[in-house]
Amino acid sequence: MVETGDNNILIDTSMDMRQQFLSYRFSRIDAVLYTHAHADHIFGMDELRRFNIIQNEIIPVYASGQTMEYLKRTFYYAFTENELRPGIPNIRGNIIDGPFQIGSSEIIPIPLNHGDERIYGFRIGAFAYCTDVNSIPEESYPLLKGLKVLVLTALRERKHPKHFSLNEAITEAKKINAEMTYFNHVSHILDHDTHNSYLDETMELAYDGLTVSI
Ligand SMILES: [Zn+2]
Ligand SMILES: [Zn+2]
Repeated sequence: MVETGDNNILIDTSMDMRQQFLSYRFSRIDAVLYTHAHADHIFGMDELRRFNIIQNEIIPVYASGQTMEYLKRTFYYAFTENELRPGIPNIRGNIIDGPFQIGSSEIIPIPLNHGDERIYGFRIGAFAYCTDVNSIPEESYPLLKGLKVLVLTALRERKHPKHFSLNEAITEAKKINAEMTYFNHVSHILDHDTHNSYLDETMELAYDGLTVSI
């Protein structure tokens, strides 16, 4: 969840979204940005209906054309154009075709490679969230300049065809050179304390409930 001051912008609706929101309380979701449509990033979608009721409004979601197509197939009942319908999530789809504005914040989509799929990371001010990536296209590096905080995937020690390994993520973090990099999408194979102790002071393994202020 990115709190910009005037909006709460959620990135992906993870499978465990219900448990996450029971632990970490938010009363609004102003928009959802989707990185891609893999099950672990979308299957919490149904929980948006609670926020529709609390907010009494349709929630805008943003995704690439391809991701939106998958969302429309999986959650065919959730897309709403006009009136709020009870008992289901009510979302309005917006296809991303370049940087866009949510309230006072510019959202910059960052093309990333996730195996043979092209997905999006997102930059909001000096923060960027790049999950599920195993290589960064050359043209995306300029979009990641001057970051205070970068979130980047580091799955495990062994190489993986769709995600950076820890060593690959460390190399990328050094290249991108954010003031602080948090590694996410971490497998249970990595031991938090052990592997954290290998990292220098500009890098850390992220964890549920981690809060960072910029
Ligand atoms: Zn994925
Ligand atoms: Zn994933």
